[in-house]
Amino acid sequence: MKALLIAEYRDGKLLGGNNELMAFAEKIGAESTMFLVGNESALPAYSGKLYLADGNECGEYNPSVHKDLILKVVEKEQPELVVFSHSSYGWDLAPRVAYAMQAAQVSEVVDVVDSMPVVPVCNAKLRRNVKVTTAKAVYTLQAGAFSAAEEPTGTPEVEKLNKDSEGKIVFEGYEEAEKGGVDLSKSEVIVSAGRGVGKPENIEMVAALAEALKGDYGASRPVVDAEWVEHNRQVGTTGQTVSPKLYVACGVSGAIQHLAGMKKSEFVVAINTDKDAPIGEVADVLVVADLKQFVPALTEKVKSL
Ligand SMILES: Cc1cc2nc3c(=O)[nH]c(=O)nc-3n(C[C@H](O)[C@H](O)[C@H](O)COP(=O)(O)OP(=O)(O)OC[C@H]3O[C@@H](n4cnc5c(N)ncnc54)[C@H](O)[C@@H]3O)c2cc1C
Repeated sequence: MKALLIAEYRDGKLLGGNNELMAFAEKIGAESTMFLVGNESALPAYSGKLYLADGNECGEYNPSVHKDLILKVVEKEQPELVVFSHSSYGWDLAPRVAYAMQAAQVSEVVDVVDSMPVVPVCNAKLRRNVKVTTAKAVYTLQAGAFSAAEEPTGTPEVEKLNKDSEGKIVFEGYEEAEKGGVDLSKSEVIVSAGRGVGKPENIEMVAALAEALKGDYGASRPVVDAEWVEHNRQVGTTGQTVSPKLYVACGVSGAIQHLAGMKKSEFVVAINTDKDAPIGEVADVLVVADLKQFVPALTEKVKSL
């Protein structure tokens, strides 16, 4: 099995998802080749062949130009799989590449079982094994689903690519999201509210525990989507990536998109009524309790110390 890994580069930096592409290739035992629109001065640690197009010339993001470049590599390397990160770059490019290759496209792959990609369904409560019926396929990988035991090493064998087309889109640059509120990436203690808090009034008890622990409070996506907490407090793939010394997850189930944002926390305490909640797999301590009773009691205890 041959896989073409589509690496990402943004604003002068390689993105962390590139290592996950390599971990995926290793997991399925694929022989891999990499593609990157980036810069020679920032190459990924990779011991394989890397097709490199210049980001200044091709635009760091330009879907039609990048698609044509990828198709050139596909033509040359004939991979059975083209693999993207499940990022805004991957979401946009993968279907374009799949359509041009007349290949199946499978989004948000979190595992591979019996050679079949596994994807979450029903808001990640269930998983589905997908049978691909085309000879070639294009996957996007969910952030955090594949990780290598060790950081990759090596220097790639670079083959440069030039663009043949101009495309109809011009890349003009990035617009910074408006910064405001708390920056959780700098917090040493985070207490997060999940859907298990039940109602907006209960955010207060999570915030009180965060304050008692001299930290900040965060939230899972459903809590933010319900507008109980502002978006800059969301932890996860579509929120912030955090690495506090202490992370307390209150009523958070531990969906992969949430874990991807907090799994680098040094010590994780989870409070959940379900002893089998997936958050238990990353928690150092799992307290099986109703957070409405446990969190205020813990806050009082911390305050009394
Ligand atoms: C493309 C995409 C991007 C996403 N990005 C993010 C993201 O950035 N961040 C994110 O968090 N999610 C994200 N999600 C959503 C994610 O898949 C989950 O749906 C979400 O994380 C679940 O949030 P939750 O754990 O709060 O809620 P649930 O999964 O509903 O879990 C609630 C938990 O609370 C527990 N509970 C219930 N009552 C109590 C109680 N009284 N006391 C204690 N425990 C209780 C339950 O046992 C359960 O484990 C994304 C999804 C997609 C598809």
